[in-house]
Amino acid sequence: MKGLLRVWKEFDLQDIEKHLIVVGELSSECFSCHKIGIDSKSSVCPTCGAGFKYMGFRRKLSMNYLRQIREELPQLTFIDFDDFKRAIGKRDARKLLDI
Ligand SMILES: [Zn+2]
Repeated sequence: MKGLLRVWKEFDLQDIEKHLIVVGELSSECFSCHKIGIDSKSSVCPTCGAGFKYMGFRRKLSMNYLRQIREELPQLTFIDFDDFKRAIGKRDARKLLDI
């Protein structure tokens, strides 16, 4: 039996920034160039050419939706977008404070 569970793992934040598609209620956004209105099933950003390896979500997720998208896009790593924002927020704050 298989189920989807969230795990905590260390990631290269810069790699995520360059290869992240953020799926919202109505459309998706390339995190790299902030182009909005991308098909959530694209593997490459039509504007900047970034290849998507990670997917984050701005919408409420149901398990059914996740399972469906997992089947259609098995190559993607799903990340918690709030975790990611928090992580880059901390990094950027550190940069500002120079520590
Ligand atoms: Zn882009």
